[in-house]
Amino acid sequence: MATASSDTASTRIAPEFIAALDKFELSTLENEPGAVYALDRDLRLCYFNPAWFRFARDNNGEPAISARFTLGTPLEAAISGPLQPFYLDAYAQVLRDGTPWQHDYECSSDTVLRRFNQRSYPLANRAAVIVINSLTVEQPHPAPDAAGAAPDESLYRNSHGLLVQCSHCRRVERAVQPGHWDWVPAWVAAQPPRTSHSLCQPCYDYYYRFRHATPPATS
Ligand SMILES: [Zn+2]
Repeated sequence: MATASSDTASTRIAPEFIAALDKFELSTLENEPGAVYALDRDLRLCYFNPAWFRFARDNNGEPAISARFTLGTPLEAAISGPLQPFYLDAYAQVLRDGTPWQHDYECSSDTVLRRFNQRSYPLANRAAVIVINSLTVEQPHPAPDAAGAAPDESLYRNSHGLLVQCSHCRRVERAVQPGHWDWVPAWVAAQPPRTSHSLCQPCYDYYYRFRHATPPATS
């Protein structure tokens, strides 16, 4: 069970964030299996989804994560070292330009190599940037010459034998965990046979559902 300190909405969701949310349904972010957080226009943390805390717990990051990353914390206080200017610049640019940005990063433990794909989306009103993290799935133990090899297809082929790929972000849905989309570089480079296309919920929200959202204010 979640602890009261990490999973009550009042410690995860700033009221200003709810008021500003114009490109996603809150339920989309809440239900996203990957860790999601948001930063307001001053790059202060203003939202965490439940998966953020699940990931922290699963990686023995709690209760330290909940203590260090609280609503209102400036990003520059939450990230240290050389990554700090990297992310400050990147998210500031997303808000300034009003265009999404993505990159890949590694977050390995002592025993597990893990890479992630991160996509950052500015709200139309530029009041916040939403950051969605997805697991990057490759062969579990790639040989040096097999980098980028695809994972076990059986985990992704549905009962009709189809792979379901988001036509926008190209993540692939897990067959056994619908709604859980992984980033599989090998299947972007070369699409496997019998791949069907759909839209993941964040892409549907951001690129289609709210297409009539108010354009960004000019100033
Ligand atoms: Zn998508």
